[in-house]
Amino acid sequence: MADYWVSRDKYFCKYCKIYIADDKPSRIHHETGLRHKGNYERYIREVYRKGMTDKKDRAHEARELARVEAVRFWPGGASLGPPPWGALLRCAGR
Ligand SMILES: [Zn+2]
Repeated sequence: MADYWVSRDKYFCKYCKIYIADDKPSRIHHETGLRHKGNYERYIREVYRKGMTDKKDRAHEARELARVEAVRFWPGGASLGPPPWGALLRCAGR
């Protein structure tokens, strides 16, 4: 039973993507090591950066969608002046 052996005797460090012996001294030794701390910080930075990018993308998408909808509801809006955004948004908010 390989899985049993792995889960019982090895601890997977997701930051370093390696298995270490699953006992307290080994884990403490690993988690206080420079390599683990470097990998941990990189992992956190990566997650944070990814979160920021996702948020930015979604906001951009929403703005683009609103623009496309506005043009659809207000053809020739550019020559007629600013459209009544409130009314248009109520129309679009179906
Ligand atoms: Zn580690």
